[in-house]
Amino acid sequence: MKTLNASAPLELAPPIARQRPLRDVGRVLVLNATYEPINVCSVRRAAVLLLKEKADMVERSGSALRSERRVLERPIVIKLRVYANVPRDSSKRKITRRAVFARDGWACQYCGTRSNLTVDHVIPRSKGGLSTWENIVASCAPCNRRKADRLPAQINMHPRKTPRVPSPHIFITVAAQKIPPAWLPWLPAEAA
Ligand SMILES: [Zn+2]
Repeated sequence: MKTLNASAPLELAPPIARQRPLRDVGRVLVLNATYEPINVCSVRRAAVLLLKEKADMVERSGSALRSERRVLERPIVIKLRVYANVPRDSSKRKITRRAVFARDGWACQYCGTRSNLTVDHVIPRSKGGLSTWENIVASCAPCNRRKADRLPAQINMHPRKTPRVPSPHIFITVAAQKIPPAWLPWLPAEAA
């Protein structure tokens, strides 16, 4: 049996598990110096940035993190002190199944079902289709089998939405799995 790995290269693997390991619960939203959300990191990483004074606390929880010498409030949202140059161009970011599903609203782009999702190359690789954001859509396994290696026009199966490079906030949604309510004020509406 194959191991499920959400960030594995695209292939026809079994549908991924929606539940992530417990250690991912403590994720921290990272804002750029401009307050723009740019990333998600672990609580430990956020604590290091705070202690090194590379970031400021924006939202905290009531609980505390303790090390041998210090007590730190548990961060929920932090802001970098120095502006970080992050690629705004999502087309340069790795295409993962989860990011494709999130962009496509966790729905098959051919029939709309939300179960048994896989990814489909709109123009099949056998016909020269590339593994780019513009050529990959969420597709349920039955639609994927039905379309096989035919062009959309050959079988009259066209994606409901023209696939595009997703907004950068998709990656925050994907990294967090579940968006804590305290993050919402810092995220654009479509990321929630
Ligand atoms: Zn379908």
